[in-house]
Amino acid sequence: YTPIDDRTWRERGWMIFSTSGTTATPRSFRYTALDAELWARTSARALYAMGVRAGESALTCTNYNPHVFFWSIHHAFNLMKVAVVPGGVPTERRLQMIDLYRPTILVATPSYSLHLAGAMREAGGDPAASSITKIICGGEPASGIASTRRRIEETWNAELHDVYGCTEAVPAGWAFTCREGLKRDPIATHVQEDLQIWELVDPDTFEPVPPGARGLTVVTNLNSEGSPQLRFLVGDFATFDYGKCACGRTFARARGGFNGRADDMLNIRGLKLFPSVIEEIVRGFDALGNEFQIVLETEGVMDAFTIVVETSVPVGETYANELRVRLEAEVIRQCELRPRIHLSAPGTLPRTEFKARRVIDRRRTL
Ligand SMILES: [Zn+2]
Repeated sequence: YTPIDDRTWRERGWMIFSTSGTTATPRSFRYTALDAELWARTSARALYAMGVRAGESALTCTNYNPHVFFWSIHHAFNLMKVAVVPGGVPTERRLQMIDLYRPTILVATPSYSLHLAGAMREAGGDPAASSITKIICGGEPASGIASTRRRIEETWNAELHDVYGCTEAVPAGWAFTCREGLKRDPIATHVQEDLQIWELVDPDTFEPVPPGARGLTVVTNLNSEGSPQLRFLVGDFATFDYGKCACGRTFARARGGFNGRADDMLNIRGLKLFPSVIEEIVRGFDALGNEFQIVLETEGVMDAFTIVVETSVPVGETYANELRVRLEAEVIRQCELRPRIHLSAPGTLPRTEFKARRVIDRRRTL
């Protein structure tokens, strides 16, 4: 899966990356020195739009897997003279690093940023009073899910930005939130149109949709040696706005961000459901924690749909019942599906550093 032959690789090879491979065999890519340069520059200007400036410092919460997001941001920080604190260590050490080195930027997946804040509170600290003023997320939708964004921003007393892209169509920068766009409702995520051609297509016919209509993302990326792509189907639903942004940039922007990969869409009892919708609902309840799972099973010929969610603090039976009723009603109202609600104690669901696995589908396939 690469246009870089062994000879080119020996002459100007830079790094190998691969897809995260949650559902399929990981795909690997060879990137060159030219890719490295393009990548750092185009990622740096995205960081600049987020308000990142030379002289800041950033804690990157990753163990430096071959994932594109953390590496691209690392090289962009280097170029911008933003000092990097590589947080390739357990959570307790990362907390110490925040205390000791006082980084202003935290780079993490949205789930991990909340997990880290919880660990800090357990250790007697207060994330809202820490040195962190900006959180940059990747790997999962963040800024476009209003309740998740509010929760992260309030927890850390910091501004949340996020990036969007895919391993197949890098290097050459990801889509990014700008400071002005974040103040608008819905928020906006710019795509880097001078490097890549972004299109939206109909999910059934794959024909381009009219301007302003919702469609699946398709990217053409020719500013790349390691992975040039012609009309690659990234496959997230988005709506593009081609007007000038309040920040002055003229790159098209996704209204409300990118919140649902078509592959992630669940079909439950014949109805379509994006896990991000459940996330939005769950995070809207202060009494519910950050972790949840969607569990699907077959009961007779029917789909059983259960939401397992942690409470933010231990709760009594009466209040637990009230929470279950309110959450069930909200899911029915927004999704037209009746879920079973299973509340679990704080800290009982699994935590992950990279992409959280929130959908457990145990349904029999017929
Ligand atoms: Zn903007």
